[in-house]
Amino acid sequence: LFISFEGIDGSGKSTQVARLADHLRARGHDVVLTREPGGSEGAEEIRALVLQGDPDRWSAETETLLFTAARRDHLERLITPALAQGKIVICDRFADSTRMYQGLSRGDLRATVDQLHELMIGVEPDLTILIDMDPTEGLKRAKGRQGHEERFEDFGTSLQEAMRAGFLKLSEEFSDRFRVIDGSQSIDQVAQDIAVATDLALEQ
Ligand code: C5P
Repeated sequence: LFISFEGIDGSGKSTQVARLADHLRARGHDVVLTREPGGSEGAEEIRALVLQGDPDRWSAETETLLFTAARRDHLERLITPALAQGKIVICDRFADSTRMYQGLSRGDLRATVDQLHELMIGVEPDLTILIDMDPTEGLKRAKGRQGHEERFEDFGTSLQEAMRAGFLKLSEEFSDRFRVIDGSQSIDQVAQDIAVATDLALEQ
């Protein structure tokens, strides 16, 4: 089973990804926890290229190519082999993040992102957990965190608001695999909702 997590910055993805891994391991599953951009050695190098340093170094188009290259490496080296071994892969962000960040916030590149995805990736998660979060609250949480390279928290609330709406729209577009979780609840309640959604997906 391939599970991805999506949501705006500060939506609590990292915490919840770890909680779900604990839940599944406690039930005896072999779990691989990974993230994007990154997740393999080469992809982590691409992540650093894009997310560290001058934010205007790459155009949105180049950035889309770089993140697609990173995803391809991540798939080849980590995700596909792990799934073939029957492991559960949990990925903090996947292609939906590119649909949103490069496809929406950095210009109207959605069609290009989709074409590249079809050409070079062609894989969607079985289950995507969207942690839906009010941007003001998300921003507050993201800023309270240290040592995290967040580019887009500087976008401010209106862009985060657009991102939130974009993710919700995406959840309707891919309603077969998306489950929307209310991120304003307590951490324990969010974790429980995610565990229930995942257990259901595992039974199918
Ligand atoms: O999820 P995480 O906080 O690790 O993401 C790191 C940064 O990369 C975030 O600021 C996010 O907005 C950005 N990002 C991006 N394009 C993607 C995925 C993430 O610009 N496709």
